[in-house]
Amino acid sequence: MTTTSESTPSAPTSRLRRAPVERSHERVHFKDSLPFYLVNLSPILIVVTGISWQSVALLMITFWGRMFFITAGYHRYFSHKSFKLARVPQFLFAFGATSSAQKGPLWWAQHHRDHHRYSDTDLDVHSPQRGFWWSHVGWILVDSHAHTDFDKISDFAKYPELRWINKYDWVAPWSLAIACWLIGSWEGLVVGFFLSTVLLWHSTFFINSLAHVFGRRRYATEDTSRNSALLAVLTMGEGWHNNHHYYPASARQGFFWWEWDPTFYVLKGLSWVGIVKDLKAPPAHVKAASRVRDGNFDIGMFRVHWNKARLAVNAAGTNVAHALVERKDSAVEAFGETREAIHDRRTEVQAGIEARREALEGFVYSTLETAEELAQLSRRGQRDLARES
Ligand SMILES: [Zn+2]
Ligand SMILES: [Zn+2]
Repeated sequence: MTTTSESTPSAPTSRLRRAPVERSHERVHFKDSLPFYLVNLSPILIVVTGISWQSVALLMITFWGRMFFITAGYHRYFSHKSFKLARVPQFLFAFGATSSAQKGPLWWAQHHRDHHRYSDTDLDVHSPQRGFWWSHVGWILVDSHAHTDFDKISDFAKYPELRWINKYDWVAPWSLAIACWLIGSWEGLVVGFFLSTVLLWHSTFFINSLAHVFGRRRYATEDTSRNSALLAVLTMGEGWHNNHHYYPASARQGFFWWEWDPTFYVLKGLSWVGIVKDLKAPPAHVKAASRVRDGNFDIGMFRVHWNKARLAVNAAGTNVAHALVERKDSAVEAFGETREAIHDRRTEVQAGIEARREALEGFVYSTLETAEELAQLSRRGQRDLARES
């Protein structure tokens, strides 16, 4: 077998080539996650409190109101800075979003920025490549993602009021829960707060778990993001996730008039009264370029398929190698060699397997990096062409 190590570039050129992340410590602890499970079960109390039109109206307000603050505040503002806010509305957006009980603004935005930085690699905090359950809720319930790395969100961590709300992230949800109880008694609390919160959680989590799995790809991006009208309806416009990964700086995620994006419509309204400023949008030439249907190389999907194939080949190769080692051992035993000699030979064979596996990995990575460079060149070319025309 020829070695391919000469053709492997010496320095890592892309995010593809990283040491595997040690994940064995990332276990969901049932006891620590108990409050999360209990809140998920709490809507059952409706059988005791009953449900009326008034409490459903309250639910509509707390669901869509908080959905707006999550998508406009946590996502489009704190994570992507796609528009500008003065300091007081900035705090109000943070407070409104924190009332959804999805931890603090700095925690949320810092982890979301990491998702964009490492989409679909094993550093992606909620990669759907690790399965539906993990990307939907599992990643939130492990200790390793519980803290906020302020260095990664220093642009907002410099505000003491945001640090405060990030630390005391229970204040806003508790305030809302008490308000719901004052408005509608126990029924108001169960329907207007708990049921609304559970529906809001899972609608938001669907973006992490389904928006890279379910829907269509318009743009060739380096990840597996997709556009889904269904998810857009459920999340006030967040379902245009492939548009969003393609141009994350845009305050508008539905790039065309037919792409339902009510978060943007509200932001537009707020810009008319001067609360929101500098709403960013993709230029026409950017919207026209990098279409998958125009033949742009879809590196995001290619990489996922290749990785799956590579893992399958590796697993098959290791099985064959183990079988060979076993056969060799029995032959050696027949000739009366010592245990040490058998052990040495086994180590030798395994080292040979490991070296070949590494050579194969190096070859795959360098090919992927070249493919990614080609994809970038092709996208840039398409974009330049669209700008000129
Ligand atoms: Zn985003
Ligand atoms: Zn994504």
